[in-house]
Amino acid sequence: MSNQTPHRYLIALGSNRRKLGMVTPQRVIQGCLQALARDFPLDAISPVRPSDPLGPSRRRYANAAAILTTPLDPPRLLAELKAMERQFGRRRGQRWGERVLDLDIILWSGGTYHSKHLTIPHISFRARAFVLKPAAQIAPAWRDPVTNRTLRQLASRFLHPKPLDPEPHPF
Ligand code: ATP
Ligand code: CA
Ligand code: CA
Repeated sequence: MSNQTPHRYLIALGSNRRKLGMVTPQRVIQGCLQALARDFPLDAISPVRPSDPLGPSRRRYANAAAILTTPLDPPRLLAELKAMERQFGRRRGQRWGERVLDLDIILWSGGTYHSKHLTIPHISFRARAFVLKPAAQIAPAWRDPVTNRTLRQLASRFLHPKPLDPEPHPF
């Protein structure tokens, strides 16, 4: 595999672990970024973004994005990422509930990819500010091959207020 052309992947990292002692979601994400960096060259890492609390007040989320380079094809990389989720304590089948670590493949340098178990670009990423904001920080010019929009363009609707919600006059 190692003599094959390497691919670039944009990975979204998420954690919604309830705070247990010092293990905050931000620390889970930082630990995962360190673990990823041991396995793959990382071209870029976004800041770790703690989210606003949603639902029960003790629940916090954290997200980040990273770009990695590897000769692995998408299914092999997904298998590696799932193994890392398990190392961080995620149990199989845990989907929308609280879980330690979620690693999704958002984009790759090969354009679109589709199989029974894997779709790239990630099917829901365009609607998710917690994915697009960190992704646009590290790869603003990367184009979504489905909409042909850059990440900066896709993220912009989460950054600018809606027309019905004008900015207060500065003076
Ligand atoms: P969502 O997909 O809405 O973000 P989720 O990340 O919580 O939900 P998981 O339980 O982590 O969902 O993943 C369910 C399955 O989605 C995985 O087992 C994987 O096979 C599949 N999958 C399809 N496309 C992707 C992708 N681009 N990145 C990661 N997993 C994917
Ligand atoms: Ca996800
Ligand atoms: Ca996932």
